[in-house]
Amino acid sequence: MGARAYNFGAGPAMMPDPVIEQIAREWQDFRDEGYSALELGHRSEPFADILTRAKADLRELLAVPESHHILFLHGGATPHFAMVPLNLAREGQSADYIHTGYWSDKAMAEAASLVRVRIAASAADSEFDRVPDPSGWQLDPQAAYVHICANETIGGVEYATCPDTGAVPLVADMSSNILSQPLDVARFGLIYAGAQKNIGPAGLAIVIIRDDLLGRARAQLPSVMNYARHVECDSMYNTPATFMIWVAGLVFQYVKKEGGVAEMARRNAAKSRLLYDVLDGSNLYTNRIQPASRSRMNVPFFLREPRLESRFFDGARRRGLLNLKGHRAAGGARASLYNAMPLDGARALADYMTEFERRYG
Ligand SMILES: *Cc1c(COP(=O)(O)O)cnc(C)c1O
Repeated sequence: MGARAYNFGAGPAMMPDPVIEQIAREWQDFRDEGYSALELGHRSEPFADILTRAKADLRELLAVPESHHILFLHGGATPHFAMVPLNLAREGQSADYIHTGYWSDKAMAEAASLVRVRIAASAADSEFDRVPDPSGWQLDPQAAYVHICANETIGGVEYATCPDTGAVPLVADMSSNILSQPLDVARFGLIYAGAQKNIGPAGLAIVIIRDDLLGRARAQLPSVMNYARHVECDSMYNTPATFMIWVAGLVFQYVKKEGGVAEMARRNAAKSRLLYDVLDGSNLYTNRIQPASRSRMNVPFFLREPRLESRFFDGARRRGLLNLKGHRAAGGARASLYNAMPLDGARALADYMTEFERRYG
């Protein structure tokens, strides 16, 4: 086996070492029961315990109030681009979207045939270099909900504060920054997140939904797309993603042990500061995002000399700094710094970038 690398990929992303080690131990012999973790039956006692504990730990970590339900669903974040309008908006109603880049765009495009999409604010005019100032949002008090992407994984734009949408439910795609900092969940009507960035393996989604939003779903909505149905069934409408939920639960326990989301926030700020400091002091690298909207999770940057890119990536790989290529839609480079990325990983990358610039800049 090779040495443990620092994986800066945007997702499926790096997982904490103690979790990987525990999976390796129990992969073959789950809790010394004589069967593999993959064979765990969803109606078995150990799984009931795993699901209950995972929910309780997530509730504790994010201080999720009793008014909100927690779901573990299949299929990652993308199904919710459609499920949100189908569950929260009446036929003919409109919903407000804040357009901040690639993922909010995807959510809007999918919703467009299901609800009247109003763009209440957009940063398209400034090439998505910021979160539009909430004081300028044109919100409709009649909207079914307001949708935001809390962290644009590709563009590297993150909300610094939670916007106030009054009585209109706030819906947030938190795929790439859930669990990265404390959160006032009471301010959200619905939060959804694919697990593969900050929590666990791909294919799982976490949904946190306020109780009074259940029961707004359209008639004839298939059960598998109906949040109320999933709440009734406690995430077991069909066979849940047993293995992935177990792993997500291990990550929750890890985060708790490390000091919770407040400690994650402290570390994430320190890691991202290391990289932004290099970028700000550099003549070789650029990042176009306005400082107030910079993501702590995904740091995209470009080399002023694109011909140096492949040399940059090759040198990084030789040092065990992996998956730094930017998204295919964006180009350039991107370093993702989710909870599982240690401070030493961010420091190794910052040092490498500085050295590379000294040599080739
Ligand atoms: C990765 C990502 C998605 C897509 O997640 P899937 O699990 O592939 O559906 C959606 N939104 C954001 C913000 C993401 O980072």
